[in-house]
Amino acid sequence: MLDTLRRIVQEVNSAPDLQSALDIIVARVKISVGVDVASVYLLDAVNHDFVLRATDGLRKDAIGKVRLGYHEGLVGMVCEREEPVNLEDAPSHPRYLFVSETGENPYHGFLGVPIIQHGKVLGVLVVRQRQVRKFGDDEEAFLVTLAAQLAGAISHAVASGDITSALAHPAGITTCLSGLPGSPGVAIGRALVVYPPANLLVIPDRTTSDPDGEVAIFESAVAAVKDDLRDYANRMSAVLPSEELALFDALLLMLDGDSLVGETVQRIRAGNWAPGALRETITQHVRVFETMEDSYLRERASDIHDLGRRILTHMQSIPVASVELTENTVLVGEDISASQLAEIPHQHLAGIVCASGSSSSHVAILAQALGIPAVMGIKDMPVGRLDGQTIIADGYRGDVYVNPTALVREEFELLRSQESELTELLREMAGQPSITPDGVELPLYLNIGLVSGNGNEVHSEGDGVGLYRTEVPFLMQVRFPSEEEQLRIYRSALKAFAPRPVNLRTLDVGGDKMLPYFPVYEDNPFLGWRGIRISIDHPEIFLVQIRAMLRASIGLNNLNIMLPMISSVSELDIALTLISQAHGELLEDGMPVVRPAIGIMIEVPSAVYQIEAMAKRVDFFSIGTNDLTQYLLAVDRNNSRVAGLYQCLHPAVLRAIQQVVVQAHRFGKPVSVCGEMAGDPAAALALLGLRVNSLSMSVSNLPRVKWVIRSFAQSEAIDLLEQALELEEPRAIRAMYNNVLELGGLGGLVRAGN
Ligand code: PEP
Ligand code: MG
Repeated sequence: MLDTLRRIVQEVNSAPDLQSALDIIVARVKISVGVDVASVYLLDAVNHDFVLRATDGLRKDAIGKVRLGYHEGLVGMVCEREEPVNLEDAPSHPRYLFVSETGENPYHGFLGVPIIQHGKVLGVLVVRQRQVRKFGDDEEAFLVTLAAQLAGAISHAVASGDITSALAHPAGITTCLSGLPGSPGVAIGRALVVYPPANLLVIPDRTTSDPDGEVAIFESAVAAVKDDLRDYANRMSAVLPSEELALFDALLLMLDGDSLVGETVQRIRAGNWAPGALRETITQHVRVFETMEDSYLRERASDIHDLGRRILTHMQSIPVASVELTENTVLVGEDISASQLAEIPHQHLAGIVCASGSSSSHVAILAQALGIPAVMGIKDMPVGRLDGQTIIADGYRGDVYVNPTALVREEFELLRSQESELTELLREMAGQPSITPDGVELPLYLNIGLVSGNGNEVHSEGDGVGLYRTEVPFLMQVRFPSEEEQLRIYRSALKAFAPRPVNLRTLDVGGDKMLPYFPVYEDNPFLGWRGIRISIDHPEIFLVQIRAMLRASIGLNNLNIMLPMISSVSELDIALTLISQAHGELLEDGMPVVRPAIGIMIEVPSAVYQIEAMAKRVDFFSIGTNDLTQYLLAVDRNNSRVAGLYQCLHPAVLRAIQQVVVQAHRFGKPVSVCGEMAGDPAAALALLGLRVNSLSMSVSNLPRVKWVIRSFAQSEAIDLLEQALELEEPRAIRAMYNNVLELGGLGGLVRAGN
């Protein structure tokens, strides 16, 4: 049974389009369950009903014609109940609806199973039997398992099919894809799909104007792969038996034969560029092999895939006509990494659309820092179909519009012009102090360091730097940066802001930030070796960084050192000892270094409950709400599947912050917040009520937050917080604060965020 399941899922996953996927499902289900009819009904969100989309057993001409309302018939009942309905004699059930077009008159046994993806019913898989009979437990369980496994593929194929037919429509149809707000703003531009090297599956289709050139690139890559294979065979001949060496011959034969090479060339001649044509050929061949009964032959699918990857690797190392980043480019990808983004010249970048991740992924934080709108976590985005298309990315709501009609475009252009009016209004705020109407000063600091560069792009805005992420200078290198290299980078940041304070955070890699030259592979990287844990296990790296920081501040004395991911007192003690050691060594060397203020980030729940012990050892606290939220709520900050649960205005997060502030103030230590929450206007109002001492955020968020601080008295914010803490649901808290912002005339700041 497991084998049957696996095979059906594999076939469906590699089907070229939705209709073929559905046809495969009904045909395979009919045979494997041994029924007279198998059908799939899918929800039509536009017409609000179910449509018969595929059947094996009923009349084919009923496909696309038979429609049932949401609550109509037994299919409607499966949808309402969100569970299987198993009936031995369907026609005698009160909900039974006779549909003449399908010719279903003689069927009695009925089993309907909902197809559910992300909590929403997408459709219903139905099997029917001529005789009166109830389906067995195992049959029901089989269909439930199959439907659950297929839901993702169906939902992906539906989105892909929608896009294909919308793009083919002569009058143009706008398709809306829903994701998560990543960085505020509206981007209108042309999509440029980026993809990781040598990942064949994510290569987009792209039309070529130079088929001869593309064929030449492809053929020379094939020749290079053949050379490689001959080399491998020669090298291996000493250690491998001849049967195993035959594999290389088989692979070479595949490259000599006409199928892989000939078909790819044909596809290039038909207009696709070489990598796209190769992807099409390879996936088609892989599909054929994957569905073979013989396990040995099935395994050959991976050989073909591997050949495709090798050819692609060679093609990518050949200087292919590189894609120009024209004005208003919207970067689109399955997974766009922070370093990929940092490498791209920002001036033409209008927006970012990423199929994975959420607003707290580092690429989204980077987009916020750059003031570029971003939409994250569009689960079923058909990335390969989007290259070159006009798209609108609405970073406020998390929606993407593909191929927008003139009307939709006009609407967003209007929104964009209103946005620039607001920006203008906010600009007037520049230079004004961040002070509440009742005279409470709440300094606003900047988060920098994620943007490539050294902090020289710096702004007159901001009372200093609340978080300098030192990871990026490390990420941009091919080895750990030397003390002198680090010294230069830190010095320019400290100098740019002096005499304002700058919190340099020590290296916080691990989790989703991996150094290319220091890879760490773990099952649970966010619970693994990251932040301070790596630093204290590698004092040679930590000490060099601390020495560079201390030296950078000589004569400026505006350095604060901040330690990430502290979860226990012993870690803090070790880090403090190492800092004292570096300080002592520099003094011994005759350098006039001053002991900086030292603080820790509160981003692990265990630290929330040890403020007293920590307060005796450090000078300040800075709450990293990005991580604190993920650890408190057990919600991966980068997982779009659970992004709806990632809510910084969750009562538990607010109470944790309250606990930190109350305890820290008992010991006279200030508390800042440097997670993304601080740059969210509604959350900033809550933080004002929580009596934090300062906020630190991306420069693009600073004017909005300053507007909030200058508009609300702290006494008012304290009252609002009391009301907020009475509420039990994060969404209710968000709604309450949004409402307050609207009433206060700051409606333009309301976000759809969590
Ligand atoms: C945080 O966790 O809130 C934080 C500011 O650190 P980072 O986002 O770099 O993990
Ligand atoms: Mg963090």
